[in-house]
Amino acid sequence: MQVIIVTGEWLMYDVIIVGGGPSGASAGRQAGKLGLNTLLLEKEEFPRYKPCGGGLSDHAISYLDFELPEDIIEWEVTGAKVIFKDQRIEAHKDHRISTLVSRDIFDNFLLEKARESGIEVRTGEKVTGCREFSDCVEVETKEKTYRARFVIIAEGAHGHLKTCVRAVDGREAYGICVVTEVPATEAEIEGRLGRAVEMEFGVAGGGYGWVFPHRTYYSVGIGGLVKDLSHPRQTLLDYLKKNGFTGEYKLHGHKIPRGGFKRRVTGSRIILSGDAGGFVDAFSGEGLAYAIRTGQFAAETIAEVCQQGDKSKGLKKYESLCKAEFGTHLKYSLMFSKLMHRYPEKSFRIFTSNKKMMDKYLEVVDFSFNYKDFLRWTLLNFKLR
Ligand SMILES: Cc1cc2nc3c(=O)[nH]c(=O)nc-3n(C[C@H](O)[C@H](O)[C@H](O)COP(=O)(O)OP(=O)(O)OC[C@H]3O[C@@H](n4cnc5c(N)ncnc54)[C@H](O)[C@@H]3O)c2cc1C
Repeated sequence: MQVIIVTGEWLMYDVIIVGGGPSGASAGRQAGKLGLNTLLLEKEEFPRYKPCGGGLSDHAISYLDFELPEDIIEWEVTGAKVIFKDQRIEAHKDHRISTLVSRDIFDNFLLEKARESGIEVRTGEKVTGCREFSDCVEVETKEKTYRARFVIIAEGAHGHLKTCVRAVDGREAYGICVVTEVPATEAEIEGRLGRAVEMEFGVAGGGYGWVFPHRTYYSVGIGGLVKDLSHPRQTLLDYLKKNGFTGEYKLHGHKIPRGGFKRRVTGSRIILSGDAGGFVDAFSGEGLAYAIRTGQFAAETIAEVCQQGDKSKGLKKYESLCKAEFGTHLKYSLMFSKLMHRYPEKSFRIFTSNKKMMDKYLEVVDFSFNYKDFLRWTLLNFKLR
């Protein structure tokens, strides 16, 4: 598969990856390891800022085939503090459930790991269009047109390239987040959060506010449904004030897909991975684990099709892999989210007063208990409506 096919003046790649975030970089590393002749195109120069809480679950880390260097790990947490109005609860596991990272540094590291596998990476080159043909895909940038047998679109939640495979998400199928970084000393962060992340429900319609610990700052943000969050920036400003953060902060807004909706994620030669495919936990907003894993699945599927000389069932294997690993989980994350937010007064009061429910939820975060079983268990044990 390392053979580079030159047709006329065209260089034909096995795969072109659009986007060098966690999904594109993971796809790139896997493609390189599998011997695919790969080009990764990223519009920004790395390291670049990405609005995010930076919570990297142990579930996400389990998908990486390398250790995270100490300097990337900014904080480690074993549990969560969850707040609803005047109620608060805190629960912990006896092991780490999440590591806090800064996305500029983490994403840069993942992209270096992709490069290490021998693929070609071009940063600062934005893809402006993709066209699928029967035997290849043409990928256009301002600089030139490239050709590949397959394309992985890992452009994230924003961008329009994904529409060559699926329709734009309706207002129900994505949320809005606004996030900022509040400088703090390690002692302040330790004193306030210890080994926990903080999540507050009831402050952002259909979602929550968060305060996550990092080495030199708190990530403070709010996220919710578009229809229930008419003034997202003001909502964050109010949340910052409520938490005693009164400085001048730069706010960053970003879309976030809600997983669990039916979305087409493959064309005949194009795969959507990560946020572009809508793979995000609809209740917590966790997307990094799914971005990494779907990127790897996309590369593995394409390698298999290339090996079989394009004669297999095409890219459908990608859908089966995603469905088998977390299809049901994400579908039920959406159901759980809808149920909790439909009756917030009752459901979040139970959530923040019941240690058993919090303990079980941490198992979901840990991926040792899935949302389907969690929802069933919750409905059996509590009257949420
Ligand atoms: C405010 C906020 C907080 C979040 N907090 C968490 C959290 O704590 N934990 C968690 O697990 N998840 C979190 N998420 C979700 C998580 O950020 C995403 O799921 C994850 O970034 C998806 O990775 P990705 O690689 O698919 O997309 P991205 O990380 O968005 O990467 C896409 C890349 O593609 C590039 N690109 C875009 N268009 C083009 C183009 N046309 N040509 C070339 N390159 C292009 C972009 O520059 C970018 O580098 C959060 C999301 C938001 C919005």
